[in-house]
Amino acid sequence: AEKRVWNFSPGPAAIHRDVLSKVQEELLDFEGSGMSAMELSPLFPAYDTMWKQADKDLRELLVIPDDYAVLWMQGGATMQFSAVVFNLLGDGSKTADYFGTGNWSERAIQEARRLGANVNAAIDTRETGYSTLPPKSEWKLTPASECAYLHYCLNETVSGVEWFEIPDVDPSVPLVCDASSTILSRPIDVARHAVIYAGCQKNFGPTGSVVVIIRKDLIGARPFKYPFPSMLDYKIMADYNSMWNTPATFPIYVGALVFKWLKEQGGLTEIEKIHIQKATRLYGVIDALSSVFYSPVQRSCRSRMNVVFRILGKDGKPDPDLEAGFLKDAVEFGLQQLKGHRTVGGVRASIYNGMPIEGVEALASYMEDFAATIK
Ligand code: PMP
Repeated sequence: AEKRVWNFSPGPAAIHRDVLSKVQEELLDFEGSGMSAMELSPLFPAYDTMWKQADKDLRELLVIPDDYAVLWMQGGATMQFSAVVFNLLGDGSKTADYFGTGNWSERAIQEARRLGANVNAAIDTRETGYSTLPPKSEWKLTPASECAYLHYCLNETVSGVEWFEIPDVDPSVPLVCDASSTILSRPIDVARHAVIYAGCQKNFGPTGSVVVIIRKDLIGARPFKYPFPSMLDYKIMADYNSMWNTPATFPIYVGALVFKWLKEQGGLTEIEKIHIQKATRLYGVIDALSSVFYSPVQRSCRSRMNVVFRILGKDGKPDPDLEAGFLKDAVEFGLQQLKGHRTVGGVRASIYNGMPIEGVEALASYMEDFAATIK
């Protein structure tokens, strides 16, 4: 008998069972080849056709303009923290602006500094516990003519803050977006960006590949001050159709299935409605039972992907023992991987594309029952 649980992991994250069933169905024989998709050369005709269709589907879903290239790279989103610097900083005479809104954008900042970039943290919300996104009046932007690019993280996976408006900055400054934990959960205006990158393992498949969407005129346009690894070079990756080395064929294959599935659901406008419904349900429980649950995140930027909350004791303060009990008992109800990031504690429910409404409903009911028992 099959035992599937509701998996709230922040990543590698739940993959929708329809997609997993398709993988299972095709595992031994992909498209009549008599081989698994993961045993095929990317140049094998059936694989090649599938990958081209994946590219088409992704472009259709995100409405990616023709003057943008789509690359599939490796090394996770973390490798893109370096790739962005090597490909966009140029000779280093300009400042790189970063929005420091959480621990992932902090990682990006650290990496840029490590590579010698002159970094300006135009936002730094560390003091707030990364629970806010300040308004434009508080951003400390470098003047456009002196700014190489601006990097921001569209959804901070650890603290659960999400930008619902693209930062309004001078259009002459290339805008770079780490969309790892929210890509394909809603439409996004690609044309406002210079680069968007995202790892697969949250919204579109297993770990192992990263999609990089880049405006073509920026590819190879800004020589870095010294040579850097070919594997990080957008120009080489673009010239070789993401096949400078062996691409991560399995994640690309599963990504292709997710894209197809997302299209069948009606595309990103429909997908966004589902996410709003899911997030509203969970934040609704948190707000309605405010003597037990507490969301540290400013309301206007509460993430739809990572719902972070604390459980309060009788004294109204977060109570790690109650939280441990909540997490332990959750497992018995088939609700798993809900533990908050070790740096923040508490509870985090990650509800990406692979998490259906039923799973969220199961968690919401469990939260309501839990609150009733400790009242
Ligand atoms: N950026 C964000 C927003 C993330 O959530 C993550 C992974 N949790 C990363 C970057 C790093 O991704 P990877 O571990 O695949 O390098």
